[in-house]
Amino acid sequence: MNASDVREVIVIGGAAAGYTAALYSARANMRPLVIEGVNWGGQLMITSDVENYPGYPAGVLGPEMMQEFRKQAERFGAEFVTDDVTRVDFSERPFRVWVGDDEYRTETVIVATGANARQLGLESERSLQGRGVSYCAVCDAAFFRDKEVVVVGGGDSAMEEATFLARFASKVTLVHRREVFRASPIMVDRARATDKIEFVLDSVVEEVLGDGVVTGVVIRNVKTDERTEIPADGLFVAIGHDPNTVLFKGQLDMDAQSGYLVTRGKSTETNVPGVFAAGDVQDDVYRQAVTAAGSGCMAALDAERWLAAEQGRLLDALAAPRS
Ligand code: NAP
Repeated sequence: MNASDVREVIVIGGAAAGYTAALYSARANMRPLVIEGVNWGGQLMITSDVENYPGYPAGVLGPEMMQEFRKQAERFGAEFVTDDVTRVDFSERPFRVWVGDDEYRTETVIVATGANARQLGLESERSLQGRGVSYCAVCDAAFFRDKEVVVVGGGDSAMEEATFLARFASKVTLVHRREVFRASPIMVDRARATDKIEFVLDSVVEEVLGDGVVTGVVIRNVKTDERTEIPADGLFVAIGHDPNTVLFKGQLDMDAQSGYLVTRGKSTETNVPGVFAAGDVQDDVYRQAVTAAGSGCMAALDAERWLAAEQGRLLDALAAPRS
């Protein structure tokens, strides 16, 4: 491997943030290599209609939108490896990134590996994803106007989603596996004060019902083992998210509890100069395709400027008189 094999930027992760970072860095002549992952497309691949991404007045299917993002980056010269990164070494530059035995070297890295909504792990949940099973109330609540929905979870997300859904749905049943909520009292109070929300505690969802679309859920009371069927048009699973950061443990600063990458101030800089993070892997607050895309753009601009400043420093050092 020689110096010319060192890329200017490698983007790890192919979804809203990664493809936008690739588009911007390709248009800045940085010849990005996107190691997009086997399951590229991220969370939008389990979303059906996306109606809140600006520029698609008639809505768009999540997977279709990801293909268009990818195509747009490719048009400007982004290259892709459709595989998972297995190891990284950010201890010195050029940084090193491995896919199995293949090693790539690069001056900058943009980490855009995203986060996954936790799933209940039911086969019926998986088969009805995007057909009534959702992981994002902000994205999908409007599809459930005057319909009945079930929300699972007992944290702040579940309270927030239930309260938000109550603006649209005719009835929201919040199912939580314990009697005590993990959510902050103020969020619980707000949900309790909403007439349309009914609480079912000490219960877990055992099965999602529906042939093609959700028609209800079967819940089991964990204390009595009693099973009950709740008719519903939608199931919102709000049991938390896991950022995809295992690869970066010990190398990039992350929140000790949640594992989300830490970025500095308004930038996408991580603790390692030259490594940037964009999208849901560093955002546990907004988690939208449009915000992920926005931060992908920021990361590409940050990487480009950082590299230009580095090259300037190098030229200055070379031009300095030797003593
Ligand atoms: P979380 O705090 O980890 O809560 C997850 C909830 O889901 C818990 O109640 C947990 O039950 C339940 N759960 C986990 N796995 C389950 C399973 N397999 N089956 C059934 N239930 C399951 O996650 P979160 O609510 O997404 O919140 C994440 C972070 O974001 C928190 O720090 C939260 O405060 C913050 N947040 C803040 C706001 C806000 O302030 N507006 C809004 C949303 C989120 P157990 O309690 O029994 O473990």
